[in-house]
Amino acid sequence: MKKTVLLLASIFCSVIAFAQNSDITNPQEVYLNIMNTDDLTITWIRDNAIPTKMGKQVFNDTPDELLTQLGLQDGIPSSMSCFVMEVEGQTILFDTGLGSPTSLLPTSLRKIDQSPETIKTIFITHLHGDHIGGLMADGKKAFPNATIYINKVEYDAWMNMTGEKNKQQKSILEEYKNQLHLFNIGDELPAGIQAIEAYGHTPGHTVFQKNRVLIIGDIMHGQALQMKHPEYCPNFDMDKKQATESRKRILQYAQEKGLIMAGMHLPEGFIME
Ligand SMILES: [Zn+2]
Repeated sequence: MKKTVLLLASIFCSVIAFAQNSDITNPQEVYLNIMNTDDLTITWIRDNAIPTKMGKQVFNDTPDELLTQLGLQDGIPSSMSCFVMEVEGQTILFDTGLGSPTSLLPTSLRKIDQSPETIKTIFITHLHGDHIGGLMADGKKAFPNATIYINKVEYDAWMNMTGEKNKQQKSILEEYKNQLHLFNIGDELPAGIQAIEAYGHTPGHTVFQKNRVLIIGDIMHGQALQMKHPEYCPNFDMDKKQATESRKRILQYAQEKGLIMAGMHLPEGFIME
């Protein structure tokens, strides 16, 4: 295990803290980390302007005593994040954040010489609003030139939901109907990115791997709790049994292969252990 850690340390030759959101009164100040490996660059973009915690009510199946024992009684450090991967001459955005008025994704993209217009490829881990809200800006498409890659299992499940649960999903995907690419697990995807099923959080929640980077989406909402106790689910996990199985499997896979995890709700974006 020690060997793996040393190997990873040498692969990640530079970790640059580009700008830190030390002044939370200025929501336009971006917070992102750029990592270079031998074969790709992955940038963590924190979409939320103000540091955030998941309140313990989000984990209402978790015993209070355990949260207190872990020092998490006041909430679990979290984030809402997106990632940009530059690999094999392509620039790929993973998820788009909330799209709220204080979302930092557009500003952050400009900091790395990109913009919503220059992004041609977007992978979506799942269709919750904090991952697709940023596809829209002021009621219009924010990414006019992008193809949006979504697991067909996820797409079909949301389109077939009844009631109001899928209102946002339907309206956003209608806007993008000529730019959607629905894929199946095992399909060939841009830059050789591999899609891996991690169902449970949502019906078709999907994680993505390229070389040593694993984009884990919403496998974890509270890293400080769930790394040690993957058996506990946030209320957002739609099928808790399946989500727990996926979480355990993906965490074990990442650890066995020595992968870097990049997660949409990790407080610092990455886990490198
Ligand atoms: Zn989420």
